[in-house]
Amino acid sequence: MNPAGAGSSVSGPTDAGILAVPCRGGVRYAENKCCRVRGVRLPDKSVMAPHRVIILGGGFGGLYAARALGKAPVEVTLIDRRNFHLFQPLLYQVATGSLSPGEVCAPLRSILSRQKNTRVLLGEVSDLDPQARQVHLRDGAFYEYDSLIVATGSQSFYFGHDQWSEWAPSLKTVEEATAIRHKILYAFEAAEREANPEARRAWLTFAIVGGGATGVELAGALGEIALETLKHDFRSIDPKDARILILDLAPRVLTAFPEDLSAQAEKSLLRLGVRVRTGVQVTEVSADGISFRGPGGDVEHLPAKTVLWAGGVRVAGFGKVLAERTGIAADRAGRLRVNADLTLPGYPEIYVVGDLAECAGPDGKQLPGVAQVAMQGGAYAAKAIVARLKGPRELPPFRYFDKGDLAVIGRAAAVARIFGLHLHGLIAWLVWLFVHIMYLVQFQSRLLVFIHWGFLYLTFSRGARLITGTAATDSPASGQPHRGDP
Ligand SMILES: Cc1cc2nc3c(=O)[nH]c(=O)nc-3n(C[C@H](O)[C@H](O)[C@H](O)COP(=O)(O)OP(=O)(O)OC[C@H]3O[C@@H](n4cnc5c(N)ncnc54)[C@H](O)[C@@H]3O)c2cc1C
Repeated sequence: MNPAGAGSSVSGPTDAGILAVPCRGGVRYAENKCCRVRGVRLPDKSVMAPHRVIILGGGFGGLYAARALGKAPVEVTLIDRRNFHLFQPLLYQVATGSLSPGEVCAPLRSILSRQKNTRVLLGEVSDLDPQARQVHLRDGAFYEYDSLIVATGSQSFYFGHDQWSEWAPSLKTVEEATAIRHKILYAFEAAEREANPEARRAWLTFAIVGGGATGVELAGALGEIALETLKHDFRSIDPKDARILILDLAPRVLTAFPEDLSAQAEKSLLRLGVRVRTGVQVTEVSADGISFRGPGGDVEHLPAKTVLWAGGVRVAGFGKVLAERTGIAADRAGRLRVNADLTLPGYPEIYVVGDLAECAGPDGKQLPGVAQVAMQGGAYAAKAIVARLKGPRELPPFRYFDKGDLAVIGRAAAVARIFGLHLHGLIAWLVWLFVHIMYLVQFQSRLLVFIHWGFLYLTFSRGARLITGTAATDSPASGQPHRGDP
């Protein structure tokens, strides 16, 4: 490992006492001794210094890449602007008070502490020089790489109306999840004190934009909060009076799932008091509520003090910089088109994985922005780098293994498409439970979450029902959401 800090990878002696010289072509070694195999420069093993792999992002793609390189003869540097890995699929449980932030996050440094070839750096990557093979951080530091894996993910997308985020927080970061928790719990508190029936109705109206998995999971959890968790807690209001709506332009919820499972999910939502309005397009979000155009073209206004955004994601921030610096075309969602081996066209040493990559599956369709795609992509990029270092044999193209889709609606209610099987109800819920526990990164989190869920199942209690932040208002700003990108 090279222990130096910023700009540490410039020429100089390494720990091993070998003179390291930057060498174009994917490897570096003393005295600039390179040889070529099929156009790729390979090291003379007798004088080789470790191949430097930089991984940008410690989400699903970056973390799985780092882990797959754990025993490889390479020097790994993982850079993330947060010091933790976030398990995004369970963020909605933080937003609805079932889990605490610490249960869905794990410090990157501790996850990778046993990997002696890996160092973790906290910093925000702001630029890239693909010719000099350098990544630049916002604080001015820069690092050189021989291979680069970019897994900086995506961020919430408001269809060009970023101003809506003020009144409709999205769910992408821990800060946003706690801001949503704040907003939901505050709405019930405000309704309890509100004498005017119309205003009270607005406080008890919750609109969720987006009927994908995140929207459905949020709405289902809100339904349970209103019907069960809070049922004994208030004196002036009956939480059961809460109106919960999902609004989506698509003709049905969970469009990524087969139609029968969408229908099952909608039935389960109805049982929890959630109404689904499909074919509607949001036209405005403000402090008073939400306006939308219905299928007939009429614009309707819904007075709602709580609007939550689950309307989709887009690549921005560093993904945009990468596109500019490499001249690679991005699709409408900002994703970068990659080769079949996940490298950027013209840059065989730069791999792009996860939400940031535009990559087709075996059926020619774009792979979805889900954790499995990122995890498998990250692991593939790591193996491809090692295979290239070993010799001229290259890995076959990346092939995504689709294990299926899962979405949970509530207690003992979920839908699952697993290896071609369509499951719903309790059995799908058990599968969901098992899969999510298994994929939580740290054993301690798995145990805690399992105990929490067991308790929640028996009691409907939500232990993390805290209104945090500095001000007791409905403003999401008091929860200090982190919008994330530069
Ligand atoms: C609320 C929610 C629920 C979801 N539920 C599911 C689900 O149930 N199942 C499923 O399969 N998928 C789900 N997903 C999608 C899944 O989480 C993503 O597809 C996956 O996280 C993508 O992995 P990634 O590695 O590309 O990006 P991420 O996991 O988002 O990781 C990106 C990392 O890069 C870091 N980063 C970004 N920019 C910079 C920068 N400039 N400098 C340094 N670091 C940077 C970030 O801090 C982050 O750690 C959900 C997503 C959300 C938001």
